[in-house]
Amino acid sequence: MDIDDLARRILAGERRALARAITLVESSHADHRRDATALLETLRGHDREALRIGLSGTPGVGKSTFIEAFGCMLTGQGLKVAVLAVDPSSARSGGSILGDKTRMEHLARDPKAFIRPSPAQSHLGGVARRTREAIALCEAAGFDVVLIETVGVGQSETVVAEMSDLFLLLLAPAGGDELQGVKRGIMEMADIILVNKADGDLKAAATRTRADYSGALRLLRKRPQDPPGFPKAMTVSAMENTGLQTAWEEMQTLADWRRDNGHFAARRAAQARFWFEAEVRQSLLARLEREPMKGIVRALGLQVEDGLQTPGQAAQEVLAQLEGRLPGS
Ligand code: GDP
Repeated sequence: MDIDDLARRILAGERRALARAITLVESSHADHRRDATALLETLRGHDREALRIGLSGTPGVGKSTFIEAFGCMLTGQGLKVAVLAVDPSSARSGGSILGDKTRMEHLARDPKAFIRPSPAQSHLGGVARRTREAIALCEAAGFDVVLIETVGVGQSETVVAEMSDLFLLLLAPAGGDELQGVKRGIMEMADIILVNKADGDLKAAATRTRADYSGALRLLRKRPQDPPGFPKAMTVSAMENTGLQTAWEEMQTLADWRRDNGHFAARRAAQARFWFEAEVRQSLLARLEREPMKGIVRALGLQVEDGLQTPGQAAQEVLAQLEGRLPGS
C-alpha cells in the first residue's frame, strides 16, 4: 500500500481516501495495523484542528435526530462535519446501531458531512483505539467538527469523554421531579446537558428537567477548565430545530475560553497520555492472554492452587517470563 499517496489524498480531503483509511485502522490484521500506524505517523504534525464533540444519551433520547439536525445546521454554515460512533454493543447485536446512515438521511447525503458507523469490535478498548484513530484521520482530512456518538451504557461515556474536547449529555424530559438516574460520574463529565424534545406536550416537562439539572450541576465541584456558567443545562428540540444554534454558540464559547486559557491543549495532551498508558496496559494484557504466556499463567495458577508457590512468587515468575520474551531484553 502506498501510504504517502493515501496520506496526500486524505490531506486533500478526499472522502474515499478517508473511508479507506478508516477501514485500515479498523482492521486487526497485522499488516494493516502496520500500515495504519505508518499512515497515522505520516499524518502527524499537520496543523488542522477539529472541534471534537462527544455526545452521549440512552437509546430513544433523540441522538440521531439531534445529530441530523445539528449536523445539517453546521454544514449549512459552511462547516465540514464528521460523525463517528463508539458502540460497545455492536459486537453483540451483530451490527451497528449508532452512526447509522439510514438514521441520518439528510446528513448522510450532505457532501460536507461524513458518517461512519461504529466498528464491530468485541472490546471497548479496541473500539476506543479505532475511534481515536478515525478522529485523527477526520481531522487530517480537514473536518471542522467531529461528533462522537455513544449510547449511555457502562463505560462508553468515559471512553468518549476521554477523546472529546467537549462532552454533551442528551436527556429526555423527565416525567416526575426526580433526576433520571443519571450517574454522578456522568454528570461530572458533561460540559453541556441538553434536554431534548422541548416541544409540544413535552415542553413544560423539558423546562422543569432543565431546571433540575441546572440545580444539580451547580452542586458539583467547580472545575478550573470552565468559564463562569459552565457546565450548564439547556433545552433543545431536535425535531423542531429549536435551541440548536444557541447550543452551538455555547459550545463555541466554552471551546474558545478553554483555548484562550490553555485548557484545550492541556486536555488533549492529558488525553494523549491517557491513551498511551491505556494502550500499554492493553497490549500487556493481550500478551498474557496469548500463548505462550497464557499457558505459563495457567500452569503457575495450578501450582499456586496446590500450595507449591505463593501467589507473589508466581506473579514474579510471570513478569520475569514476560520480560524475557520482550524484544530487546
Ligand atoms: P436515539 O435512539 O437516541 O438515536 O433517538 P432517535 O433520534 O432515534 O429518536 C427517538 C425518538 O424520539 C424518535 O421517535 C424521534 O422522532 C423522537 N425525537 C427525537 N428528537 C425529538 C424531539 O426533539 N422532539 C420530539 N417530540 N421527539 C423527538
